[in-house]
Amino acid sequence: MAAPKVEDHFGLLADIGAISSILSESNDLQGFLDRVVNMVAEHLHADVCSIYLYEDETGMLVLCSTHGLREDAVGKIRLPVGDGLVGKVLKELRPIWVDRASEHPDYHYFSELGEDAYEVFLGVPIQRGIEKIGVLTVQRRDRHRFESAEVQAMRALTAQLAAAIETARTLMQVASLQVAVDQVESQTESGTFIKGRKASPGYAMGPLVRFTRNPAIKILEAYRDDAKGIGDKEALDRALASTQQDLRDMQQELETKLPEVAALIFEAHLMMLKDRSFTGEMQDEMEKGREATKAVAIVAFKYIQLFEGSKHDYVREKAHDVEDLALRLLKHLDDRQERSGQDWHGAIVVAHELLPSDILMITLADVAGIVLCGGGLTSHISIVVRALSIPMIVTNSNLLDDLPEGETVVLDADEGNAYINPGPEILEKFTDREALRQKAEEQRTSMLEKTLTSDGERITLLANINLLSELDLALDLNAEGVGLYRTEFPFLVRPSLPTEEEQFLVYSKLLKRMDSRVAYLRTLDAGGDKMLPYLEVNPEPNPALGLRSTRLAFKFRDVLHAQLRAILRAGLDAPGMHVMFPMICSLDEFRAARQTVSEIAKELSEEHQQELAIPPVGMMVELPSTVELASAFAAEADFFSIGTNDFIQYMLAVDRNNASVIDYYCPHHPAVLRGLARLAGAAEEAGIPCSVCGEMAHDTKYVPFFVGIGVRQLSVDPHYLPDIQKCIQKWSMAEMRQYAQDLLGQDSIADVEKVIDANVKK
Ligand code: PEP
Ligand code: MG
Repeated sequence: MAAPKVEDHFGLLADIGAISSILSESNDLQGFLDRVVNMVAEHLHADVCSIYLYEDETGMLVLCSTHGLREDAVGKIRLPVGDGLVGKVLKELRPIWVDRASEHPDYHYFSELGEDAYEVFLGVPIQRGIEKIGVLTVQRRDRHRFESAEVQAMRALTAQLAAAIETARTLMQVASLQVAVDQVESQTESGTFIKGRKASPGYAMGPLVRFTRNPAIKILEAYRDDAKGIGDKEALDRALASTQQDLRDMQQELETKLPEVAALIFEAHLMMLKDRSFTGEMQDEMEKGREATKAVAIVAFKYIQLFEGSKHDYVREKAHDVEDLALRLLKHLDDRQERSGQDWHGAIVVAHELLPSDILMITLADVAGIVLCGGGLTSHISIVVRALSIPMIVTNSNLLDDLPEGETVVLDADEGNAYINPGPEILEKFTDREALRQKAEEQRTSMLEKTLTSDGERITLLANINLLSELDLALDLNAEGVGLYRTEFPFLVRPSLPTEEEQFLVYSKLLKRMDSRVAYLRTLDAGGDKMLPYLEVNPEPNPALGLRSTRLAFKFRDVLHAQLRAILRAGLDAPGMHVMFPMICSLDEFRAARQTVSEIAKELSEEHQQELAIPPVGMMVELPSTVELASAFAAEADFFSIGTNDFIQYMLAVDRNNASVIDYYCPHHPAVLRGLARLAGAAEEAGIPCSVCGEMAHDTKYVPFFVGIGVRQLSVDPHYLPDIQKCIQKWSMAEMRQYAQDLLGQDSIADVEKVIDANVKK
């Protein structure tokens, strides 16, 4: 195709003069937008022209009309402002044009769009004053890049179109709002619509089931007070045997899904079943003439009261185990007993609060999705739910409280929406998206074993692991090791402190799967917003600056002692094991931590009567105080692992979980960048490995910066690995060093952003 001539654009502008006639010729608003995209595509000799409109309500850009892309994607492609090239145009309110869109770090691939062939991209914001309206894009298949005259023409065009498009948008949104309001208020055939925020992405469909934490007591009471119980001695024996089998089956299932607790949780249940004073008392009750269901309920109540009377939280928690066991037994004794409120398999669970101890039920019950109403969401619950790939939204709507259980819910957690008893249109949409999602999953390309820069320098890509179940993906994607294993998860997902033995099993599992690969085990990083209920700590006014991490471990020395013993024992046959301490603040603290490791190694050597090799001991670099002392730390630590999440939080005094200051949480603040460069430089000079494991490491804007300042290991959540590998392959060492130098030469955030933007082509 010949390059369009600049004078063509005058024709375009002239045609725009006829906007009112386009509008009058269109049957409806959609028809108007369709005509606009056709006209612009024709005048700019573009293969594709699309309009994305901005929804105030949701903060999303929605594809509303296209010439050239798949029409069935209209209304379905939605992306937040700032996401993808289109989102970036609206976020930065400036035209963006690139020659190879797919190589751009901000490129967002939608398989359902069919845009692979159209690499030459130009997007222009549509705005009226400060009002954001949307984005107009044009794309070409061939290599004729857009000239600046064309960019100017598009700007002029969108300025003229803005008013008409804004009107169209408002009308269309009013129409769709109306639908939503109608649905909510009338709950007609089209069902009820609930708006929320996404907490864990994905789609799911299933019956609505309410999560009530304690229905068991009522059921048990009913059985205890029932004048007529059922079941003889044989029935009780059969129920005991079947329950035992159920528990074993569940234990096996947990083994793959949440191996860190599998061995721990049901052992207690099984032991209780074997306990003569527990089952024996049931038999004694039957000797007195009571039926099996009554005997189970009476004994269960006795034990529940016993445990609940304890002054220790972890003993009180055991009361739930008894309730759970008793209900399982009753279910086997009485088929009418539905164990109501506990059958979450395939359901969309509606909860008002989720505690870490609920994670077990979520994992085991195979819930399809979760809607959390109102209640707060702690960061570890959302991390676990995401790690388990369960879609979840959080909503303030209380509509769900009035809906009966069993209604069909379609959960679209990618957009934060839930539809109750949806009409055929939504159901069809759900099925289509599910099919697309499965296809994308199947097409997920695996990674090369080694990651090299364009000039052949080796970079090591490692995985951040929270739950052992994430190891499968990491290994499938050829992660070269685990760069951060957050050991706090086995502590968080259970109601009491895991013993040394229990931890040993978990760490051994991890290390066994890693074989000779490296694995960086971080000691307990609890406290702050990850407080463990069973550690008795006074509430703190400012937990982020309080008893967190290694400070907490030093206060609870026996907890640290047990953990380090478990780690060192598990690492006996694991050559790649490294130990690291989080939130190290002073050299003195690091020395004390290292000393503890040496003492425990000595203790274990004596027990094993053989010299135990001490693994490399390093530190998480997360506090500003480490920058000034970088060389001193590098001289003593065996390695650095930079936790940018906390480093930014503390360097800039911005709470990383506080939405109202999120704009101040700026990873590319010049002070952050320079601090990181000094840390990496000190590690390089001292000849110790330095990796980055905070979230900055998975952002392709920062990846070349890290390599440029000397970092050779990056550790990211497994699903980011392919993108990071692709990014590194595009840069040479010289280019990355230059990019880093350019970034480090800037004093303001705005100037840093200019350098980033100038390099976005990469
Ligand atoms: C970090 O602070 O960057 C980090 C990786 O640790 P966490 O996110 O677990 O605090
Ligand atoms: Mg941290």
